[in-house]
Amino acid sequence: MIPFLDLKKINMRHEKAIQEGVSQVLHSGWYILGEQVKLFEKEFATYCGTDYCLGVANGLDALELIIRAYDIGAGDEVIVPSNTYIASILAISANGATPILVEPERATYNIDPAKIEEKITDNTKAIMVVHLYGQACDMNPINALAKKYNLKVIEDCAQSHGAIYDGKRAGNLGDAAAFSFYPGKNLGALGDAGAITTNDEELYNKLHALRNYGSHKKYQNLFKGYNSRLDELQAPILKEKLKYLDEDNNYRRKIADYYLNSIDNQHIILPSTKEEPESHVWHVFVIQVNDREHFMQYMTDHEIQTIIHYPIPPHKQEAYIEWKEHSYPISEEIHERIVSLPISPVMPEEHVKKVVEVINGYQPH
Ligand SMILES: *Cc1c(COP(=O)(O)O)cnc(C)c1O
Repeated sequence: MIPFLDLKKINMRHEKAIQEGVSQVLHSGWYILGEQVKLFEKEFATYCGTDYCLGVANGLDALELIIRAYDIGAGDEVIVPSNTYIASILAISANGATPILVEPERATYNIDPAKIEEKITDNTKAIMVVHLYGQACDMNPINALAKKYNLKVIEDCAQSHGAIYDGKRAGNLGDAAAFSFYPGKNLGALGDAGAITTNDEELYNKLHALRNYGSHKKYQNLFKGYNSRLDELQAPILKEKLKYLDEDNNYRRKIADYYLNSIDNQHIILPSTKEEPESHVWHVFVIQVNDREHFMQYMTDHEIQTIIHYPIPPHKQEAYIEWKEHSYPISEEIHERIVSLPISPVMPEEHVKKVVEVINGYQPH
């Protein structure tokens, strides 16, 4: 079977460094918010080109904490794409604010900048962009709108570590950004982990307290905070893997290029990309096909694992039963047709070639 993603193989490349990192933490005797977290935060901020980085427990917390730190809550609205992973939307709801869904562009799957302005009201406080599947959103028109209406721009970078737009990295394209280091992401830990990047010093200082019980100083609490800290044990692992992120993303790009140039089947719609190759880090390679179930069965029969990102749009989830009657036709259509092909920094060339061969031989019934 060609696996969708071989996480063990990805991490075993770093076996020695990971063991050394874990041993270093063990021997330090300091297990929460120690030297390793500080070092990783510094290096990740440098990588993203931001003044600040703050390690937190996971990507959802990163998003939730940013919204909280901006005092966005009940009665406020946050604009968010209708086809994102549910976490983006949960982070808004968790703060008591109202998610306002905006449809994506069909070509890029990213929020359609032309559809944002009509959703802005007096209650709108922020636009949350999601660089979905690894491709940076078209940020210039979005930042222009945010400026015009005095809104915050929050980036969900959980799928876009390292993507570059207009010379800047994802994480440095708005007011604040949330990263997830869930094991399957382009930069993944050996467990849950996340981070926030920003150039906003005031926001950074507030978040610094919020992630640690709302405390700047031990046993003094300025805010009703959280316990959401990047695990000290994950920090040296992430620091080591960060060194290889660009190389890994380049390898993903090579696979994506090969797929784009070699998959030749009238029944398969390939993803479209911007001219700038570095704007995409190919967290996943998403195609569209009419009879998805039949296609996926065909791939399984040919020993190739495929996955759907994601099968049900957020507004059709039980959790958001209040949106049952809402209609987002582009999202609904996308969610019915998409399939993700295997892509990873450790995928052997023979596997990539086999995927192409098998897809080129696909016939609908
Ligand atoms: C993975 C993901 C998240 C959540 O990250 P966790 O670390 O799992 O909490 C948020 N948004 C998007 C788009 C994601 O893909």
